[in-house]
Amino acid sequence: MPSSLSNSASPNSTSAMLAAIPSVDRVLNMAATQALITEYGRNPVLSALRALLTELRDQVTRSHTLPADIFSEPVINIRLQSALQRTSRPSLRPVFNLTGTVLHTNLGRAQMPDVAVQAVINAMTRPCNLEYDLDGGSRGDRDSLIEPLLQELTGAEAATVVNNNAAAVFLALNTLGLRKEVIVSRGELVEIGGSFRVPDIMSRAGCRLKEVGTTNRTHLKDFAEAISVKTAMLLKVHTSNYAIQGFTASVAEKDLAGLAHKHGLPFMVDLGSGTLADLAKLGLPSEPTPQESLANGADLVTFSGDKLLGGPQAGIIIGRKDLIAKIKKNPLKRALRVDKMTYAALDAVLRLYRDPERLTQNLPTLRLLTRSLTEIETAAKDVLPIVALALTGHATVAIKPCQSQIGSGSLPVNLLPSACLTITPLIRGKGEGSVLKKIEQAFRQLPVPILGRITDGAYCLDMRCLEDKNTHEFVSQIKQLRLT
Ligand SMILES: *Cc1c(COP(=O)(O)O)cnc(C)c1O
Repeated sequence: MPSSLSNSASPNSTSAMLAAIPSVDRVLNMAATQALITEYGRNPVLSALRALLTELRDQVTRSHTLPADIFSEPVINIRLQSALQRTSRPSLRPVFNLTGTVLHTNLGRAQMPDVAVQAVINAMTRPCNLEYDLDGGSRGDRDSLIEPLLQELTGAEAATVVNNNAAAVFLALNTLGLRKEVIVSRGELVEIGGSFRVPDIMSRAGCRLKEVGTTNRTHLKDFAEAISVKTAMLLKVHTSNYAIQGFTASVAEKDLAGLAHKHGLPFMVDLGSGTLADLAKLGLPSEPTPQESLANGADLVTFSGDKLLGGPQAGIIIGRKDLIAKIKKNPLKRALRVDKMTYAALDAVLRLYRDPERLTQNLPTLRLLTRSLTEIETAAKDVLPIVALALTGHATVAIKPCQSQIGSGSLPVNLLPSACLTITPLIRGKGEGSVLKKIEQAFRQLPVPILGRITDGAYCLDMRCLEDKNTHEFVSQIKQLRLT
């Protein structure tokens, strides 16, 4: 009977086909469906089944055909199972970041070290002393969990933590500059990642922005002339994600601090990335550190937890004790505070900085950034044959030199030598672009998506971030690659 239902366009047989689609109850009673209910639960199976039957009805109405094997249990089971697998997988999924940008904001920035993961698990699954002073047996302050470490590592008098660096800047401005003026150089009115713009944060924080100098040159006297009774503080923003070259001038932190203090004003530095390690010593482009800003006289320094620091998303504010105390009293601190998971991860990551010798081994962000070219090339050679095999008939695969970016607001001009697999479509000229897109899509749609980038007519997978521990999973994904 099923085959006689196909390929006929008369209205009568269309309604006959519709009537022949099995009922929900009938499919539910199939043994294979019962097994799916055991695995996924009744409601998810029921909604997947209803969606499948609706799809079948649409198919009949549209094309007047019904698959001949519609009553076959295995066929229904396979379709249901794949629908259930798709809908039951978590929304936030691991991916392979082979884009060449190590701290990729869209891909979750820093990867946590195992010690941080374990600390987070403990904090999540057991009661903990988040706001409890175990020595005194009384109510505690969550910032005291990380304050001594930050004091030790940066020389700061005090520290507090909020949701991210944008929140840190916002909270500090709102606390110290409400209805007053904050003086910033025109060359530092930056936008970071599309949604953080210094002028916008400033106005939302209730401060008036007093811009001084010009885009390329700002001098100490520009600041000096702008100071008035309305001034709340001087602010320096680390222009981390772009560089102005040529005829430029900016005022050194020391000079700004000196000027601010002469007028009894605080001087704040928004460092953005702010690593605690000496990157130049590790062979990386050097980045200013919070401890340097403090030594230069900054009263407050803000920086991110999940950029070069290599920790969880957080905004860290360090500096003068009286100013930090004011910031913590701001009612908005309560709205911007972080949870126990963040403290647990941040504490574990900060502890790694106590042992600088083993930092590049223990902290994934620095391990990836300092990975040797030889090691990256070896990773590329190891997987080249399997990738080439998967792309047979579609593309050629070769190992080529490339350059990785640090990402997350680090200078885009600071590139790290790396190696990538370049996948070049066999078709050249017309049709090449669409093949390239298909290749990119096939990698992206794997169960654990592999993300690279298209450059110069090839799909490139930067091997810097493919570590040995993940190679096995990478290979198993490549084996599932399907190009149509
Ligand atoms: C990245 C950055 C920010 C924002 O930090 P988030 O932690 O992403 O909120 C603010 N200022 C500067 C200079 C930055 O580089």
